[in-house]
Amino acid sequence: MPAEETTPQLFPNRFADAVGPGGGEPARDACRCVGHSTRTRPARVTFHGERQDTGAAGWQHLLALVDEAAADGRPVFRPFVEMSAPERRQVVTLPPTIAQLTAVKHLVLYGTNLVRIPPEIGSMTSLERFDPYTSHRLHWYPYELTRCTGITDSTVSTRALYGNFKYRPPFPALRPVTRAGEADLGALDPAVWGTEAVRTCSVCAGPVDRDLHQVWISRLVGTDVLPLLVNACSTACLAALPEPHSGYVPTPHTGGPAVVQPAGRW
Ligand SMILES: [Zn+2]
Ligand SMILES: [Zn+2]
Repeated sequence: MPAEETTPQLFPNRFADAVGPGGGEPARDACRCVGHSTRTRPARVTFHGERQDTGAAGWQHLLALVDEAAADGRPVFRPFVEMSAPERRQVVTLPPTIAQLTAVKHLVLYGTNLVRIPPEIGSMTSLERFDPYTSHRLHWYPYELTRCTGITDSTVSTRALYGNFKYRPPFPALRPVTRAGEADLGALDPAVWGTEAVRTCSVCAGPVDRDLHQVWISRLVGTDVLPLLVNACSTACLAALPEPHSGYVPTPHTGGPAVVQPAGRW
């Protein structure tokens, strides 16, 4: 078991009230797809392919909680605390309506069943604290998260991340270019592209209506270096990306088993 799972006392009381009612039913699904050590890491990984069931009670509840938080302008948003365990398990992403949460400074996503976060999180520009800790199926984040430039504090389960410095699990292989006509960018297979739709460029925020260019880049967000998925509209936008964080793959890359990463620290 990863050390951080067995040493929760490193974060005394910080998340004591961050988890909702249990009720005996599982709130999330197990995930070992990136392994948890140099010995257990796989040679290749693929994205989680789960799609959100938008008819599920948990999803409907989450939509209502987002609307409520947008209306009252609360600074701390902890939606999963208010959901039952079966409801939490039904939610694998966040709704695009999180873009309305422009007053939220602290987003708590502790112990969720999420497998992806949508690019609309980049509109939550008041964010200062980002806590997806122990959401063990979140292996990557959208590049749009770097638009939340006020984030100074984060708590992420490092061992769950693609390319993390502890044991360098691989990144999913990306299609470097998806030509217009090769795929419907509004109805993608998340197991292949990581998302069900790409509408706007992660870099320039313009429309992606011709070719889609996908790359990985590792950057510092808050206090964590995160693997970020870039959905770019053009090679010019790829060229405009900043340098990756020191100690990680030194250029944006398309993942897969051939990518050479620096050695893990442990
Ligand atoms: Zn996984
Ligand atoms: Zn662009």
